[in-house]
Amino acid sequence: MELDGVGSPSALAARIHQLDPDLPLDFSIEEVCHRLDISDIVDQPVTSFAAMLLMHPDRAWGSIVVAEGTSPRRRRFSIGHELGHFLIGSHRPGDGDQFACSHADLHLANSREANRARKMEVEANRFAASLLMPPKRIRSNLGSRQPDLNEVVRLAREFNVSKAAMARSYVDAHRETLALIVVRDGRLIQAHRPDDFPWIAPRIGEAVPMESIANGHQLLPGQASELEECEPETWLSSSAARKTELLSEQVLSQSDGWAMILLHAEGVETD
Ligand SMILES: [Zn+2]
Repeated sequence: MELDGVGSPSALAARIHQLDPDLPLDFSIEEVCHRLDISDIVDQPVTSFAAMLLMHPDRAWGSIVVAEGTSPRRRRFSIGHELGHFLIGSHRPGDGDQFACSHADLHLANSREANRARKMEVEANRFAASLLMPPKRIRSNLGSRQPDLNEVVRLAREFNVSKAAMARSYVDAHRETLALIVVRDGRLIQAHRPDDFPWIAPRIGEAVPMESIANGHQLLPGQASELEECEPETWLSSSAARKTELLSEQVLSQSDGWAMILLHAEGVETD
């Protein structure tokens, strides 16, 4: 495959799909890697990293190691992440000839990251997400125009990725203005708020707002609520709420106290 001169991580991922337009939604990441000069992918009982790329200094070949026991869907993402380090020409390991990536690295998502090493992790994640869940393919596989976490669950299965990874890509790819909040035991663990979504007031670590349907829901793991309208002030700062006509929320209960909350903003006034 000829990938020279392709710029951003997402453009690079899009190029791979362009060159191979018949890749199924749940394509074999191993096969794609092998065509791109990754000589082998092995699972090893390691604890010091989640995934690693060893590469020849001039990028003639690379070799990927994944921590044994990683679930198959997360494993695909980890391999995609390491393939990103291999293909993005500006990525250089901090020391030696290997990228050893932690679980935290595989979740870094801040696009304004200034730190060089962390920026490479963000880029590798963006590459893996765009390769495994191309925005165009998400859009063409949507069942309804209305945002719905049940669709996220279905798409995660069809694309063979984790629900958490699909939820973020779904929010990014969807034409509506969406954000995603991940909570555990009633507290915010993570928020994915694209730039077009109004400012979300509660911070990471804080409790889910009292007025939210996610507060004290009685859903069984795997069950989702309806998408319900709420007061914009439930989730938004007062200035952001004033500029938002409608806000809706939907909660998907998961096991062990985890839940995902999808926020849908409509009629957002831009400055
Ligand atoms: Zn990495």
